Amino acid sequence: MNTVTRPRILVVGAGFAGVECVRRLERKLNTDEADVALVTPFSYQLYLPLLPQVASGVLTPQSIAVSLRRSSKYRTRIIPGGAIGVDIKAKVCVIRTINDEIVNEPYDYIVLSPGSITRTFDIPGLTDHAFGMKTLAEAAYIRDHVITQLDLADASDDPAEKASRLQFVVVGGGYAGTETAACLQKLTHAAVKRYPRIDPGLIKWHLIDIAPKLMPELGDKLGKSAQEILTRRGIDISLGVSIAKAGPEEVTFTDGRVVPTRTLIWTAGVVASPLIATLGAETIRGRLAVTADMNLPGHDGVFALGDSGAVPDEAKGGDGAICPPTAQHAMRQGKVVADNVIATLRNQPLKPYVHKDLGLVVDLGGKDAVSKPLGIELRGLPAQFAARGYHWAALRTNVAKVRVATNWTLNALAGDDFVRTGFQARKPATLKDFEYTDSYLSPEQVRDQVEGAGTQEP
Ligand SMILES: Cc1cc2nc3c(=O)[nH]c(=O)nc-3n(C[C@H](O)[C@H](O)[C@H](O)COP(=O)(O)OP(=O)(O)OC[C@H]3O[C@@H](n4cnc5c(N)ncnc54)[C@H](O)[C@@H]3O)c2cc1C
Repeated sequence: MNTVTRPRILVVGAGFAGVECVRRLERKLNTDEADVALVTPFSYQLYLPLLPQVASGVLTPQSIAVSLRRSSKYRTRIIPGGAIGVDIKAKVCVIRTINDEIVNEPYDYIVLSPGSITRTFDIPGLTDHAFGMKTLAEAAYIRDHVITQLDLADASDDPAEKASRLQFVVVGGGYAGTETAACLQKLTHAAVKRYPRIDPGLIKWHLIDIAPKLMPELGDKLGKSAQEILTRRGIDISLGVSIAKAGPEEVTFTDGRVVPTRTLIWTAGVVASPLIATLGAETIRGRLAVTADMNLPGHDGVFALGDSGAVPDEAKGGDGAICPPTAQHAMRQGKVVADNVIATLRNQPLKPYVHKDLGLVVDLGGKDAVSKPLGIELRGLPAQFAARGYHWAALRTNVAKVRVATNWTLNALAGDDFVRTGFQARKPATLKDFEYTDSYLSPEQVRDQVEGAGTQEP
């Protein structure tokens, strides 16, 4: 019997935006009003802001992977795979399932929340040698990789090899890069005590950014405080500098310096998921150009939000500004978009998304932090309480909250064992391997696939 007589709502991506949307649809829609499906390559929602703490071993990977199947009350059909194209005319989403089948999924309403990928530039060697900090696999990989460098440096008698294994470069002075450099420096600083053959003076972390300031969104004073904390801890900060070239054993900075290193972590911004380009619709810096109610103009059932939607920032007075790509916005947009999907379904008016930014919290590891909640500038322990308190409260399930709190406590009391798991050793580990950036179809390939040709192997 064909059960699909109800309108079909398809949500793409189970991140901050997608999961909030789905949970609200489940709560507010009557079961006979619509069918809800969620396309997601993973069975969890990733709490990205705590990723640097997974890389540094303060948290286990599972503690920030919040299950999508925690409750039997959840009635959304989960499609395990990634959307690789959307035909908004035919109202079909093309999905590559996790067992590599290509499936055409028809929909009546689609909510696009596939988030973003690491933004790269045309720098020689970059995509082959840099790691990002966007996925759980990347964070776990980087942790193992950093510990591997210590293990191999300890075992080596070659000064050149030691030097390149013990220098680490992080590009990107936004909160993601700054937290990554800060947390990983804590890791190597603590770990080196267990490596008697390594001179701690040889370990060097570099944090570089082409911008003149670290985390400009924090304001001058707090940005400077963060810089002072990191410099005091021995992190070499270079501003106005980027990467000219990356190789397997060295990186060349744009100021001419050549740094021997086997660890280049690239966190210089994000760009909307390549899925958005497959629609062939208008975009703003890669994000789908939607209205304040997150609807694609001219296409009533198409919505986009989070890092992949260019949602006008109405709280800024409608001067053309779009909401920054943050979890803070994505979560709240998820709720509003669910209301708007339901309103469309019920022929009711849509409501615009308006949210005034609550500020930023930055965990620099241990007792170090800088935060600016509601415009109040905090440093040290109060900032750390604000940072951890905010993240803890924002975790979606109680189980995740307990896991994270237990991990924090355990780490504070017992420290880290610096175990290298080796799970991902010898696997390809470029940005495209972790973020599947080459899986997407072109708009023409989407059309062919939907019309039944489907001959191209993307
Ligand atoms: C290291 C780091 C630290 C951060 N710290 C903060 C912070 O402190 N505060 C803050 O507000 N923001 C922070 N952010 C930004 C924040 O995490 C993002 O803005 C937020 O995750 C965006 O939510 P989203 O739902 O749009 O995307 P995501 O949460 O990234 O979710 C997208 C989901 O879609 C899935 N997906 C991707 N492609 C497809 C596809 N083709 N088909 C189906 N599913 C797909 C992904 O697997 C993912 O589950 C941080 C980001 C990083 C990387």
